[in-house]
Amino acid sequence: MVDRNQSAHAVRLHGRLFLIDCGEGAQVQLKRFGISKARLDNILISHLHGDHIFGIFGMLSTMALDGRTAPVYIYAPRDFASILKFFMAHFGEGIKYEITHIPLSMKEPQQIISFPNCRVEAFPLRHKIDCFGFRIYGRMARLPEERWASIAYVSDTAVFPEESEWLKGTDLLYHEATFADEHSDLAHRMFHSTAREAAQVAAASGAGKLVIGHYSSRYPDLNLLRVQAREVFPETYLSSEGSVFEIK
Ligand SMILES: [Zn+2]
Ligand SMILES: [Zn+2]
Repeated sequence: MVDRNQSAHAVRLHGRLFLIDCGEGAQVQLKRFGISKARLDNILISHLHGDHIFGIFGMLSTMALDGRTAPVYIYAPRDFASILKFFMAHFGEGIKYEITHIPLSMKEPQQIISFPNCRVEAFPLRHKIDCFGFRIYGRMARLPEERWASIAYVSDTAVFPEESEWLKGTDLLYHEATFADEHSDLAHRMFHSTAREAAQVAAASGAGKLVIGHYSSRYPDLNLLRVQAREVFPETYLSSEGSVFEIK
């Protein structure tokens, strides 16, 4: 929609920048909100539906125009290999930096990135095609005892039994909430979640905050989704273009 872009979430952590999903126009949104791609080395792609990946091609091309030489690591489902091959064959001539695809195929949570003060875990979701969630942990430096704070990204998925166990104690949970209560049948058929189900996961996993998104375009007023989620989990917030959530 004109005022709702497709999925793309930037995570800043200890001087690093991670991008989770790269929907159409993501590079324009990064520019609009003052986030430089120069430090973007790790891109996490949940699944190969267009609303989560169509923006990556333009962005990789612009990185080349910007004169990038640092490598880029793309964590994405296995089939991304053939997409990247096709892209490089037709549009890769000016790309002078290395693009490495790390395939995701885990059946349970697994660490995929590890730095001294941040790490990333990926875990399978339940969607129409292979799809993965991510949890990013950051070491909180200024506390007397060491603490690892975390955010989790869960989109797209129908809720599933292991979910709240895998997400235990997340400080900030982003969970898709494509549908409202009245369309819960459709949500299950399409392997998506309702706002209420997202809130139930947040409550069961003991999340600090819930941010919902990935709304169906059938709802012009998103308050409906917020109200239904808050009935279960009061600390629910709507994501919107450029919204920023800070974890301390
Ligand atoms: Zn999808
Ligand atoms: Zn989607």
